[in-house]
Amino acid sequence: MDVVVALEDVRARVHDAKRGGRRVGFVPTMGALHAGHVSLVRRARAHADLALLSIFVNPLQFGAGEDFARYPRDPVGDRGLAERAGVDVLWMPEAGALYPQPPRVTVSPGPAGGRLEGASRPGHFAGVLTVVLKLFALVEPDVAVFGRKDFQQAALIRAMVRDLNLSVSIVVAPTVRERDGLALSSRNVYLDPPARAAATVLYRALSRGVEAYRGGERRAAAIVETALGVMAGQEGVAPDYVACAAPDDLAPVEVADAGTVLAVAARVGGTRLIDNVVLGDGLEGDVHVA
Ligand code: AMP
Repeated sequence: MDVVVALEDVRARVHDAKRGGRRVGFVPTMGALHAGHVSLVRRARAHADLALLSIFVNPLQFGAGEDFARYPRDPVGDRGLAERAGVDVLWMPEAGALYPQPPRVTVSPGPAGGRLEGASRPGHFAGVLTVVLKLFALVEPDVAVFGRKDFQQAALIRAMVRDLNLSVSIVVAPTVRERDGLALSSRNVYLDPPARAAATVLYRALSRGVEAYRGGERRAAAIVETALGVMAGQEGVAPDYVACAAPDDLAPVEVADAGTVLAVAARVGGTRLIDNVVLGDGLEGDVHVA
């Protein structure tokens, strides 16, 4: 595995690969790698010849008072995991290189960027799309892989690629979960044992929502009520939102159908967690780690 830092080095690796007729698969991450990230690398390898993984904790997507300064960082563990996952090029750019000055031009995510996560975290998706566009400009990947765990992020990236005519294929991979259903997240390290136990409530709430849908319920408000009831029953959990939304622009829906996404966000012992399910797909397609 090649480890590079400088922008010109990553560009050189990509140009070498492309000159050799190899397709580049890109997995952008913020590090503290886990099995969810590994699954994205596998997808990248399936769709491309060279797997390039970036690690960059992007200050632009964190709001004031959020966890940018204490976001988990594990460069040594990340190297080992990236190598074992089959990453060909690990790119760890420095903030000063990506942002020599605060950007004056940024990507506006449009109305979908103000819903759900965007409503709770103003400016978050402008920060995400801006860094992803910069990374795409530097890497020029043929394929880029994102996790369904961050459903709204993936939808906005697809929309950016479509609306700005970017020539990259976007692949969205299933959510990787612990055995008890908790979606893997770098932020799970913040959870102390009681919070870790309580955190399964997001999965339990989604499961009940899917059950209601499968039982024939189509009223979005009733599905939301069912999921919220599960969340409210769990001590130490403060729900942020529970919503049924359209899969493309995350607009609220009144009637749920097979493509509707049920999205949840909650504070669990001080840590903000998110999760989601596409109602018609259910949770069976997600991957559980051993
Ligand atoms: P992050 O490092 O948390 O910014 O995530 C980097 C990429 O990994 C994003 O595309 C996430 O959606 C994806 N990802 C994070 N957690 C999971 C998970 N549990 N399963 C699948 N993909 C994930």
